[in-house]
This record gives sequence, C-alpha cells and structure tokens, in this order.
Amino acid sequence: MLRLEGISVAVDGRQILQDVNLHIKPGEVHVLFGPNGTGKSTLIGAIMGFARYTVTAGKIYFKGQDITHLPVDERARRGIGVMIQRPPTLRGLSVREMVQICGKNQVEVESLAEKMNMVDFLARGVNEGFSGGEIKRSELLQLMAQQPDFVMLDEPESGVDIENIAVVGQAANYILERGTRKNGQTIKRRRTDRQKSGLIITHTGHIMEYVPADIAHVMYQGTLSCSGNPQEMLACIHEKGYEECINCAL
Ligand code: ADP
Ligand code: MG
Ligand code: MG
Repeated sequence: MLRLEGISVAVDGRQILQDVNLHIKPGEVHVLFGPNGTGKSTLIGAIMGFARYTVTAGKIYFKGQDITHLPVDERARRGIGVMIQRPPTLRGLSVREMVQICGKNQVEVESLAEKMNMVDFLARGVNEGFSGGEIKRSELLQLMAQQPDFVMLDEPESGVDIENIAVVGQAANYILERGTRKNGQTIKRRRTDRQKSGLIITHTGHIMEYVPADIAHVMYQGTLSCSGNPQEMLACIHEKGYEECINCAL
C-alpha cells in the first residue's frame, strides 16, 4: 500500500527527517511512537504532501506508484486520508458542505452524521467553537465520506475526554474496516475486497484498544529507530523510556 524508501524531509527549509524507511502492506495498521518534536507529524505531512514539507531525498510509493512529488489533492484522490492534530477553523464553510466535498460518491451525509452523533453540527462552520472531541468527530466524519484506502491519524486521543475516546476509536475502526479485539485476539468485522491500511501516531496507545495494530515503530531524532509488536513496544517504552527502548531488540 505504502512504501517509503529512504526519505529525508525538510520543514520550511530545516531538515527534520533523515532516511526513513517504512513498508505498510494492504490491511495493515501501524502505530508510531516517539517523543515530542521528533518528527512524527512531519512524516504524516510529507506522506500527505502538504506544501510546507519538502522531500529532499528518497521516494514515496503508494499502490506501487511514485507519488513523491504529487500535489496533496491528487494524493487524496488516489486514496490517502489524514486527520491532523489541530485542524484550522473554517468560517463560512459548514460541516455539511465539507462532508459533501470530501465524499467520493453521493454520500449520505445525514446517516454518517447520525453515526458520529453530529447531526446538530452540520449547519455550523467547520471546527467553529468545537471542543477537542467534537473536532476529532468532525474530522472522522470527513474521512468516512472520503473512504480513503490509507488512513493516517495524528494523535487521535489527544484533547479528547474518556467518553469521546470510545467514539473516536470506534469511528477509526469503522473507517479502517478493522475487527474488534477480544481476549487479545482480533476478530474480523467483515470480509471486504479492499484492504485498508493505517498509520496512527499515539503517545498513550489507548487507540489500540479500539483499532488493532499490527506493527509499531519508534521515531527518535528524525528517523525510525526500531519496529516490533505494538503491545510489547508500548510496555517497553513505559518501563524504560524511548531511549532505552530503541536500544533493546524486541
Ligand atoms: P512530533 O510530531 O514528533 O512532535 P513534529 O513533526 O511536529 O514532531 O516536529 C518535528 C520538529 O520540526 C520539531 O523540532 C519542530 O520544532 C520542527 N518544526 C516544525 N515546524 C517547523 C517550522 N515551520 N520550521 C522549523 N522547524 C519546524
Ligand atoms: Mg506531539
Ligand atoms: Mg506531532
């Protein structure tokens, strides 16, 4: 689905990422851990193709095609979707209009909004006066309409209260068409031809209680330092901290 081959990324002229390699296969969900300021959001921005992020070396392949220099809207059309950490407020553009713009097909805005308990928000400006949890729900509503094959979520739990974490987690799981977890085992929700993949940045790992993750990576000082089992890696980080963790082979 997604392959990064030795990419380096500069943000507004400053080199942030070096030699990042990553392979996410169809149907896989990867999580990304790492301390603040290490370049996790930069990686997501570079994959999506936001203008501030310049790939200075390496290649990004999506569905086997080189997308390294494609504009952001073309990447979205090809099936990449993102929920960024702090999306802007869009005065004058309603949530309803936004969901319709995101919609690949003629989307059932009302029924999607019902699912996210956001019917009352459809007429409001995007993120205008929204709480942390409402912003996330509104972003996820847009992703439901877009139906991307590859979904990136930047700290989906941050700024979200306990009740909304369940809503956010279940919505993310729905978008990714993942199964639910029971006794540590993944139960497939339904069989589909399309194999959706994801990349989720998380500090707490709470999202993994809703979205089963296959592989975890730790980003440290601008590069991916180690990979392994998500639960083991999270336990290792909690026990030893990031620096120790990247030195231990999992
Ligand atoms: P993370 O998501 O891991 O917390 P980020 O990708 O947001 O980290 O940031 C990585 C680094 O890039 C940080 O040191 C941050 O200060 C720096 N950075 C972000 N935006 C800019 C910018 N516009 N100009 C220079 N440096 C930036
Ligand atoms: Mg951060
Ligand atoms: Mg970040």
